[in-house]
Amino acid sequence: MSDGPHLVVAGSYGWSTRYVLAAAPGPGETLLADEVQFEHGGKGSNQAVAAARLGASVDFVTAVGHDHPGEAAIALWQGEGVRADPVRPAGLPTMTGTILVERDGENRIVVALGAMLALGATDAHLVGRLVTADSTVVVQNEAPYAFTRAVLERAAAAGARTVYNPAPVSAALDHRDPVWQAVDVLVPNQHEARSLLGDSDLAPDASAEELARELAERTGCRVVLTLGAEGAVFVAGGAVERVPAVPATAVDTTGAGDCFTAALSVALAEGAVMRDAVRFACLAASRAVQQPGVIDGLPRRAELAEEVV
Ligand code: ADP
Repeated sequence: MSDGPHLVVAGSYGWSTRYVLAAAPGPGETLLADEVQFEHGGKGSNQAVAAARLGASVDFVTAVGHDHPGEAAIALWQGEGVRADPVRPAGLPTMTGTILVERDGENRIVVALGAMLALGATDAHLVGRLVTADSTVVVQNEAPYAFTRAVLERAAAAGARTVYNPAPVSAALDHRDPVWQAVDVLVPNQHEARSLLGDSDLAPDASAEELARELAERTGCRVVLTLGAEGAVFVAGGAVERVPAVPATAVDTTGAGDCFTAALSVALAEGAVMRDAVRFACLAASRAVQQPGVIDGLPRRAELAEEVV
């Protein structure tokens, strides 16, 4: 097990099935796919595995069913050195995602949260007993909000650093939510940042820097706004700064945000200043986009040329 910094990731595991086909079926139609791929997914699990590969000592708190995907998930975490003792509710299947990819690149996605729905505010104690003031706690938006919020509040009460990747975006969450008091670092993409700002008076053509600054002012968090191939902008200690992406030939950008959040969290947990942590996250995410699939593309620490601390 790694002797790197301690991360507790709380969030989803999902088993995804991806069909590649000429065009999605219409009502009443059955079509044969050209290709099918099965893959481990779920933002929480992706981030936990990414952080372990980058050298952190990782505990993962999640829920899976008593089924084949649940067993596959446990084998994945064991193989990656991620400690996990998932909640396994009776009668609820592991979260699944079905992705239809049309030949023109258009995606249609259906997700069933399944076992993740069993996680509620009372399950935050599973995180509470793992966390110390030296831990970094990382959450996303694929678990019920009551659970996510309670995890953040427990972590903050224990003095841990908290990192919130608010993906996928939730219309129910905005910059007025009291949860921000429990969040140190907020890591949205541009779509998520705009949704969090909601009815604020930010101009539609505001720059990424203005968007990040506005979100930092409204929430009181340090904000790291990801910009895809443009890199990221961060706001910390009153400064707003852009870090360019590390140039890469992107083959599949699925999971880039998960890799970025994990790498940023590991670097901050190692004591890096924000600029260096964002540079490290851009480097790690640029590796992730160069491989098809999510798990296969998550880089190991030794593969990254630069060290942050
Ligand atoms: P999300 O996947 O959550 O929407 P982004 O698309 O903003 O997140 O990507 C997250 C990070 O991944 C970016 O900040 C950047 O560092 C890296 N990244 C994404 N796309 C590319 C690309 N085409 N080339 C290099 N880096 C990329």
